[in-house]
Parts: sequence; C-alpha cells; structure tokens
Amino acid sequence: MIPLSLLLAVDELNKWARGNGREFAYEIYDLKGKIIQRLDRAWSFRTSVIVTCRTCGGTGQFRSDECWDCHRGKTTLQFLLTEIHAGDRILQWHTPRDRARWVPAVEFEKLQIVPPGDWKPNQPGLDIERATGLALLMAAKTLAAEVLRVEVTA
Ligand SMILES: [Zn+2]
Repeated sequence: MIPLSLLLAVDELNKWARGNGREFAYEIYDLKGKIIQRLDRAWSFRTSVIVTCRTCGGTGQFRSDECWDCHRGKTTLQFLLTEIHAGDRILQWHTPRDRARWVPAVEFEKLQIVPPGDWKPNQPGLDIERATGLALLMAAKTLAAEVLRVEVTA
C-alpha cells in the first residue's frame, strides 16, 4: 500500500517538474514510474494526442529519419494514463509510452483507449520555491525508498 502522503507529494512534484523544477524532472518521473508499478488501487488506460511534429515544425517536409512517425506535420503521442485512488481524490498521471517501459507492448495494446479530454502534454506546471520543492522531493524519495524498498535515483 502506497501512503497517501507519498501519492500527493509525487502529484505535486509532477507539476513542479513542468514548472521551475524542470531540472529535477528526470528524478521525479523515475519516482513516479516506480510508484505506478506498485500501485494497488489504480487503473491503467491508454490515450493519445495529436500534436505538431517538432522535427519538421509542422511543415510536413521530410527532414530526416527522425520524422518517421509524422504525417503531414502532425504526430501522434501515446500515453499510459494511470488513475489512482488517493483518499477522496482520483489522481491522473500520464506517462509517455516510451517511458512506460514496464508495460510490455502486448499489454499496452490491450489497455482500454480513453480520449484525452482536456488534458494536453506539457501543460503549464507549478512553480514552487526551490528549497520547498527540494525538501518535498527529498522527503518523497526517502519515503519511497522505505515503502517500495527500491533504490531511487539520487
Ligand atoms: Zn514531421
């Protein structure tokens, strides 16, 4: 059982990672991924959004083999959507498909597809005072290491 305090801390950190805590994004996403793999009261879905291709800037002009999944300047991003019971709230965490490596491709294909709704990737994040954000991150990592008994990236 993942403590509610840890879920709420990571939910907050997840927003900080898109705000002024961007330099800690890797650590935060690592922590988030490890927690998702150990959740007991959660549901997984898949969702996708169509965005302007970054490689060609939406022109659709083939530039390199990096643009392979682009169609006329648009590209489809796939996400694992995890809905988590956290007290009286339901948290929604999105993980890009290529970062959710713990879900085998076959399992991912079987997940129920849900529309993204109002959600978009790279939504504005949360700015937290650096010392406060760091303290929250350290506390979450310590608690996670204890609860999950895994090493969390330092
Ligand atoms: Zn493109």
